[in-house]
Amino acid sequence: MEIYAMREFDGHELVVFGHNAGVGLHAVVAVHSTALGPAAGGCRMWPYPTTDAAVVDVLRLSRGMSYKNAMAGLPFGGGKAVIIGDSHKLKSPELFEAFGRFVDSLGGRYITAEDVGTTTADMENVRRATSFVSGIGRKPGEAGGDPGPKTALGVHLGIKAAVKFRLGRTDLSGVSIAVQGVGGVGYHLCRMLAAEGAHLRVSDVRKAALERVCDELKAVEVQPERILSEEVDVFAPCALGAILNAQTIPLMGAGIVAGAANNQLADDKDGQALQHAGILYAPDYVINAGGIISVAREYQGGATEAQVTSEIYGIPARLTEIFERARRENRTTNAVADQMAQDRINASARRLVA
Ligand code: NAD
Repeated sequence: MEIYAMREFDGHELVVFGHNAGVGLHAVVAVHSTALGPAAGGCRMWPYPTTDAAVVDVLRLSRGMSYKNAMAGLPFGGGKAVIIGDSHKLKSPELFEAFGRFVDSLGGRYITAEDVGTTTADMENVRRATSFVSGIGRKPGEAGGDPGPKTALGVHLGIKAAVKFRLGRTDLSGVSIAVQGVGGVGYHLCRMLAAEGAHLRVSDVRKAALERVCDELKAVEVQPERILSEEVDVFAPCALGAILNAQTIPLMGAGIVAGAANNQLADDKDGQALQHAGILYAPDYVINAGGIISVAREYQGGATEAQVTSEIYGIPARLTEIFERARRENRTTNAVADQMAQDRINASARRLVA
């Protein structure tokens, strides 16, 4: 593995491997940038086929966190952790405590939280070994806890902003939305969309998750391989990344892509393919920032739930600004968002040097 030569390497400040044979821990932490503050981002547990695949993912995800935190106006840089392994088979309190010791050894340059494959309960175990962790249970009214519902709120508001921009509609009644993945975020998102009268089509590879949404919300089940080509107003990816690529974009049936998944574009140039296909893309790290806003304010302490909610209500205005600027300058929405995020990071770096 030649990390510096990897396409995904973007001047990352730190890439560290953590191993504990006794508990089966194989983890990688990447800190992309600390220009805005200590690097904050979740810990993903996933059965990567190779260590290279895990490194590629952590490099991409940590860069995305730099941009996400910058765009959300948070005083944090971008970082991410991955634990290599099947979260249904390999989890133990000892593994997460060992991961906590690994995070602690970085002295606060990286702050962790839950992500795909990890939960609030896992973060409780991480906290036994480090204070550089967030996304933990809280007292009523205090900010924090499971970020999934906060992410869902931001995505819900973001979908409304995209629908308004593209379709000129201020409500979701009768708007058709295909949701890919109805787990921690997707389920809460579906509830909010259904409450506004949206027509839902949903897919998931877990039967139980799918049945819950179909039974509770009268959503229509779609086979996982067909969800992308559903003829709908909005496609909301809420499962895994890289689902927008050269193979899938020509098949897409939606006019808007707006969902929670991280790293939705397999490559930056896929943003151009979406633009050419006339599909409005809500940049993932802008629309899905609700969870990190909650996690960050919990970590800082002192914020109320109401303050976090009010910050999440800032997401649709940021998206609309990106949509308008992209249209005005005939650029892709992802290129506009990247530039805005990079400008914020550079401005902060300049302030530090001055
Ligand atoms: P989750 O693991 O709880 O849910 C993901 C769901 O997607 C699962 O139910 C899984 O079975 C399903 N899935 C996996 N592969 C699929 C496929 N091929 N087709 C259909 N469904 C599939 O994860 P989550 O916390 O809901 O996060 C979802 C996405 O949003 C991830 O990309 C995550 O990185 C991103 N995200 C989450 C948060 C958060 O607060 N949890 C914040 C920002 C971004």
